[in-house]
Amino acid sequence: MSSIVLFGPPGAGKGTQAERITTSTGLPQVSTGDMLRAAVKQQTPTGIEAKEYMEAGLLVPDSIIIDLIRDRIKLPDAQAGVMFDGFPRTIPQAEALAQITAVSHVIAIEVPDERIVDRICGRYSCGNCGSVYHETFNPVSNSGCECGDFIEKRRADDNKETVKSRLSAYHEQTSPLADWYDNKGIFHRVNGDRDINLISDDILLALKK
Ligand code: ADP
Ligand code: ADP
Ligand code: ZN
Repeated sequence: MSSIVLFGPPGAGKGTQAERITTSTGLPQVSTGDMLRAAVKQQTPTGIEAKEYMEAGLLVPDSIIIDLIRDRIKLPDAQAGVMFDGFPRTIPQAEALAQITAVSHVIAIEVPDERIVDRICGRYSCGNCGSVYHETFNPVSNSGCECGDFIEKRRADDNKETVKSRLSAYHEQTSPLADWYDNKGIFHRVNGDRDINLISDDILLALKK
């Protein structure tokens, strides 16, 4: 069993790509951001603690994230590996992950900082099925979402103010992971500043290496 990591700045397209390649890989998407938002909504102790960090655009403490992943990876659907989206985001998280499960590929979706604000501020999703859309770059079709029941949902942290701190957190705490994984020979860079389908093709190619 072996897992995949989708790596990149906020708004790079990790969730979008995870959605698209999950049928090809057969691996379930595990998004720590989605898990945290669910915990916040349910007001669990984890959610209550995580909320202020998320609203401020800061990373949630490693211990909380590692506990979430440890529990998630025990579920039956994770036994053949998973596709991590937005995890790991720090070196301690990557070290903990190495103890929990094997990672075969880390796919870095590269997008320049100046594109990120537009990506994040135009993002919305379907509140019914979770599909991710964009006002300009990937709008929901006139006939609505594929799930048949479109409800527009925006994230509380998708605004100009938090984007700055989220990008700083990425450059300071997350981007050092690129070298960490590169040294292990499993790091693959993909140009994320292109058409969504071309990026998916490149990711599927990289996964064959
Ligand atoms: P984005 O789409 O901007 O990359 P995510 O949904 O992955 O956002 O994460 C939203 C927020 O949840 C982050 O800004 C951070 O506060 C928290 N978060 C998600 N994953 C992690 C993680 N692996 N480590 C620490 N904080 C995390
Ligand atoms: P992440 O999970 O990395 O935070 P998302 O997949 O949520 O990123 O994408 C962020 C926003 O950018 C969404 O609104 C999405 O529709 C849009 N998006 C994703 N990929 C592309 C792309 N290649 N070109 C333009 N917009 C994109
Ligand atoms: Zn939907």
